[in-house]
Amino acid sequence: MEGIKLILLGPPGAGKGTIANMLRTERGMVALSTGDMLREEVKNRTQSGRKAAEYMNAGKLVPDETVISILKNRIKEIPPNTGFVLDGFPRTAAQAEALEDIFRELGVSLDFVLNLEVPRDVVLQRLSGRRQCSGCGEIYHLKNMPSAREGICDKCGGALFQRNDDREDTVETRLTAYERQTAPLIEFYANRGILRAIKADVGPAETFNEVKKQIL
Ligand code: AMP
Repeated sequence: MEGIKLILLGPPGAGKGTIANMLRTERGMVALSTGDMLREEVKNRTQSGRKAAEYMNAGKLVPDETVISILKNRIKEIPPNTGFVLDGFPRTAAQAEALEDIFRELGVSLDFVLNLEVPRDVVLQRLSGRRQCSGCGEIYHLKNMPSAREGICDKCGGALFQRNDDREDTVETRLTAYERQTAPLIEFYANRGILRAIKADVGPAETFNEVKKQIL
């Protein structure tokens, strides 16, 4: 599966980040998360970061042109023939169209779009307990996947934090944005014959096994 190019689709809390991290550590793929990229921009107080923060804190999607330009720069840095996985991009029809142009320009073709399917109650439970490492991006859950020492990353010793937008009042807006703007992409990729459904309301190891079966 060297050189495989994947997109992870699914609502917030579906496990996209966790699966992307597993593909990176176990398969050496480059994992690109537009959410992580944007949080980095916010942390560094760049111009796009300052603009993006307002949308992110409100649970809304950041405007297409900002996300597309950030993603495009990062995709271009990936060495040729290296597999990669996009986590959280595309999230709108305009982004999916832009991605086709980027791939065409780079001479790359998309292998699979994995749609992580999770019911709403599971999503809500996952988001409320989610914690992330400020150092390496590893994802934990207070109940389902706790770190060995509370508040500290098992992998790198970094401090764990709760994302601003995982708080209850923002989550509803994010789920609505997903349903209205992102869910239509399921059909877009199904029509291209590269969509694979993954039952993702189980633990990370089981979900990852399903992913491996689908992309063999
Ligand atoms: P995530 O970490 O993927 O849940 O993304 C966190 C937040 O970053 C989202 O709620 C959006 O505000 C923003 N974001 C991430 N990826 C995108 C994208 N592809 N398009 C627009 N906004 C995005």
